[in-house]
Amino acid sequence: MTAVVLTGHSSIAGRSVPGTGAALHAIAPETNEQLEPPYSQIDVEQLREATAAAAEAFESFSRLDPEAHAAFLESVADEIEAIGDPLIERAMQETGLPQARLVGERARTTGQLRLFADVVRAGRYRGVRIDPAQPDRTPMPRLDIRQRKIPLGPVAVFGASNFPFAFSTAGGDTASALAAGCPVVFKAHSSHPGTSELVASAIARAIEANGLHPGVFSHIFGPGRSVGQALVADPGIHAVGFTGSREGGLALVRTAQERPVPIPVYAEMSSVNPVFILPGALDGDIAALASGYVQSATGSSGQLCTQPGIVFVPRGDKGDEFVRAVSGAVLESTGQTMLSPSIAAAWRDGVATRDANAEVLARGADGDGPHAPAPVIHTADISSFEENHVLHDEIFGAASLVVRYGDAAELVEAASQLEGQLTATLQLSPADHELAAALLPVLERRVGRILAGGWPTGVEVGHAMVHGGPFPATSDSRSTSVGTLAIERFLRPVAYQNIPDELLPEPLRDANPWNVPRLIDGRGEASA
Ligand code: NAP
Repeated sequence: MTAVVLTGHSSIAGRSVPGTGAALHAIAPETNEQLEPPYSQIDVEQLREATAAAAEAFESFSRLDPEAHAAFLESVADEIEAIGDPLIERAMQETGLPQARLVGERARTTGQLRLFADVVRAGRYRGVRIDPAQPDRTPMPRLDIRQRKIPLGPVAVFGASNFPFAFSTAGGDTASALAAGCPVVFKAHSSHPGTSELVASAIARAIEANGLHPGVFSHIFGPGRSVGQALVADPGIHAVGFTGSREGGLALVRTAQERPVPIPVYAEMSSVNPVFILPGALDGDIAALASGYVQSATGSSGQLCTQPGIVFVPRGDKGDEFVRAVSGAVLESTGQTMLSPSIAAAWRDGVATRDANAEVLARGADGDGPHAPAPVIHTADISSFEENHVLHDEIFGAASLVVRYGDAAELVEAASQLEGQLTATLQLSPADHELAAALLPVLERRVGRILAGGWPTGVEVGHAMVHGGPFPATSDSRSTSVGTLAIERFLRPVAYQNIPDELLPEPLRDANPWNVPRLIDGRGEASA
């Protein structure tokens, strides 16, 4: 096990740097207790050291050979695991999340780093295409044109509060940027600074052990509205990954677009993840369906980006039975500690607004501690849902809305009014396929992932996953922040026309020394 002492400092290109600004403390949400050490915040001048080091590191890091690159990502995973229990203990204190959830999330985080190591070794993401010269083509000869994808440059990453490992310091954005060959300057989330420092130390050890430039990763503490903004405005930064509030994400998008050289921002923001209970689904086990919904809506205190925030339920006896079962499950539920006092306060505000706009179906009991409010589910008819757009808003936490609909046309119309979403779920039986077929084209224009059965919480990290979607789910619907396709966000294609073989980068040379999969004349090359 690697013993790590928390310093309360930023780490800039491997150096421990105390900030010149005011210090912040993590607050244990279970007790409101202030946790040591204080975290001093850096100023904009100190930030420049991190971005300058990242720019310097880019030269060598972007050209690493696949084996060295993959080995580095695996070392980060190994170093995170080597911290052992103290990492889980600190994350429990800072987030109030239970041990089992955090152990699982750590495994997901190290698993995705190792998955990206496989991606780097396999090399398909380099997007190599070769159109060999055709000197005899008529009426015009064709020149030799070769394409590959290269990393964009240093990336700024803003970690999420709700996944202190998998969407934070060494989470999906960092892992995919590093896999693409982009150094990362990571703006630590103020609600779990100690957890973030521990993970950052693991990345720094992996950088040193693999002999890489220390500017490949910097970890900074500083207020989002000043230092975070300056990071995105910094000319050395070429792309941004963010998970958090719509307000924060949009503020960063604006800054990125107003730069003299605008850059892409991949912000994952808000989603209510509608669930459509089609009539045939209620011919099955209604109690199990209701319990699955309540568990998905209230687990992890509802603080999941894929939490089902709106459920459409048919009017009629079976719909009533489902609603009664939901109500019973909510009445038995108890609040769990939320991630931070401010997130709990935002949840209470959102619920107060909903109380004023919809009927309470059921409220559970408050949990222990100051920030464990009772889960609540409201209900509204589809006509008020369509007229009152406040009911479309996300409430981040254990709150959800049951919307009762009459017929298929009403349901399809309501689906067409939804904002962009990460997910949409259909609960259906074979008898519902006609209605499902009418909903699918409406949904695929609005969401990133469509499920038949099951619940949207729980996101597989794989090659086919999409965790993205049209605004406001994300600021750029053409990508995903989970799964191996996430690497595409940090790459761009370059074509090389008539360049002599010895001047070409390795993946494009005739001998293909890195054994990268390639499209020759639009067709896959037979592997060596
Ligand atoms: P947040 O307030 O958006 O903060 C996320 C990160 O962005 C923090 O590092 C924060 O820095 C920074 N930031 C915030 N506003 C900024 C701005 N105007 N300019 C530059 N940087 C800025 O999100 P949060 O604290 O994690 O949670 C608050 C709310 O976000 C939740 O109630 C929920 O609605 C939403 N949320 C959504 C998801 C999702 O998956 N969709 C996940 C988590 C949270 P500081 O800490 O220094 O302010």
